[in-house]
Amino acid sequence: MAGLQQDLRNSVAVIGGGVAGMSAACALAEAGFRVQLVERRPYLGGRASSYWHPGVSETIDNCQHVLFGCCTNLQGFYRRIGVADRIHWTREMTMIEPGGRRSRLGPFELGPLRLPAPLHSAPSFLNAKAFTFADKLALGHAMWAMMKPGAMDFSRESLGDWLRRHKQTEGALNRFWRLVIASALNAGIDSIAVPYAAKVIRELFLNSAEAGSMGMSTVPLSELYTPVAPFLTERGGRVLLNTYVEGAAWDEASSKWLICTRTGELVSDYMILALPFEAMQKLLPHLPAEEGTENLARQLERLEHWPICSVHLWFDREITELEHAVLLDREIHWMYNQSKLQGRGGHYIELVVSATRAFAALPREAAIQQAVSELAEFFPPVKDAKLEKVALVKEMHATFGVPPGVDWARPTGDATWPNCFLAGDWVQTGWPSTMESAARSGHLAAEELGFDAEEPLNCFERDLKPQGLMKWISSTWT
Ligand SMILES: Cc1cc2nc3c(=O)[nH]c(=O)nc-3n(C[C@H](O)[C@H](O)[C@H](O)COP(=O)(O)OP(=O)(O)OC[C@H]3O[C@@H](n4cnc5c(N)ncnc54)[C@H](O)[C@@H]3O)c2cc1C
Repeated sequence: MAGLQQDLRNSVAVIGGGVAGMSAACALAEAGFRVQLVERRPYLGGRASSYWHPGVSETIDNCQHVLFGCCTNLQGFYRRIGVADRIHWTREMTMIEPGGRRSRLGPFELGPLRLPAPLHSAPSFLNAKAFTFADKLALGHAMWAMMKPGAMDFSRESLGDWLRRHKQTEGALNRFWRLVIASALNAGIDSIAVPYAAKVIRELFLNSAEAGSMGMSTVPLSELYTPVAPFLTERGGRVLLNTYVEGAAWDEASSKWLICTRTGELVSDYMILALPFEAMQKLLPHLPAEEGTENLARQLERLEHWPICSVHLWFDREITELEHAVLLDREIHWMYNQSKLQGRGGHYIELVVSATRAFAALPREAAIQQAVSELAEFFPPVKDAKLEKVALVKEMHATFGVPPGVDWARPTGDATWPNCFLAGDWVQTGWPSTMESAARSGHLAAEELGFDAEEPLNCFERDLKPQGLMKWISSTWT
């Protein structure tokens, strides 16, 4: 009887084992669907994964990935598979200038005393040596303007133009907008649409201390996803690794998808395509030609990539006691001390360079040399330390940009084919190219599929509510 019930459940093939695919697959399996999660690589995680790097004989993340308190769907996915406790949270950010001067940003806490949002971090900001008085005035002015949701959420202006109109100083531009915001969105300021920047500002700095707290995995990324396979198997599903999907056809007679992979055919009632946009572009000609596919092709053509590079360094000694830091005025932007964050042996430091095509174009030796010599400007012990091994990871297709007008190019998850849904960080979620956007798209696709199958599920996680004065500001100005 149990076997019969299992066979009667709707089957779903989720193509793509990144955060979007895994989130959709696990939510659907929990709701009773039989799920096959199909991934072309030998491991899960997609653009947020770790792998064995033979050059350094270590498992490394393809790049440090950070999440924030406001990433409710990503956390929902982590909770579902039981790994939420593997995320280390912090509310503090240390900015370091070349020469080593430090500024600490973070919420004010004196015993039980807190300040209401959006003022929760005002004392540390006012005290930050990294910004001059003029920089602080300019930043305060811009934050005030971005605080109010409304007309600006439909603006078609670029962040660069908006900042020039709001008279930002060089210091504010270089040390805040170009570094913190542009690297969170991984693009140059002239290639970012104002609504996306305003969203990041509100979520990370204004809505609440909780929304802006920063999370980092304490284990290599792919290890986080270890429970996904047993989670699916225990619910009648499976994970198929090393399985490249080449095309799919809808069989009208049986109302099923026939999915063609390099290793055989799969049959399924429903299909979720959770691919990166360039893989979707490749697959499109091998899917049924329906009304709407041409439009999807045109949308996909409009999306563009931005690179992120990471430099993984193992020293013979500790070069800093900090867990992580923002590095100002140089090409390297973020320092993560993986020996502390992931409890890794040796003295393992990871540097991240986002939103720069120039660094990504450097030859390996030049990139490493530049990264190490810049690191020494922030942490003098680097000069005496011996560099034992190093890995450079260039992800040329790391994220998609969010320039003005990009929303036109982001389709909803309801695909043009029967019993088929789209997921992936690039579909219409209102979020930039992040793990949260991927998890949201996965949960949205799962809910739409459940609705279609008349087995509704409720897996989409709501946004955190603004706190303190932001409650009033958001409701008064929307
Ligand atoms: C270097 C780097 C740093 C980043 N930093 C951050 C960060 O700090 N914070 C953050 O939130 N986000 C960050 N991101 C972005 C984040 O990784 C992505 O937005 C997110 O992981 C996208 O997930 P996804 O599931 O939509 O797509 P993907 O992760 O690309 O998953 C799609 C999957 O589909 C598989 N696939 C492709 N074609 C086929 C096929 N034909 N058949 C079967 N499988 C196929 C791929 O192998 C892949 O596993 C970063 C990305 C990179 C690359």
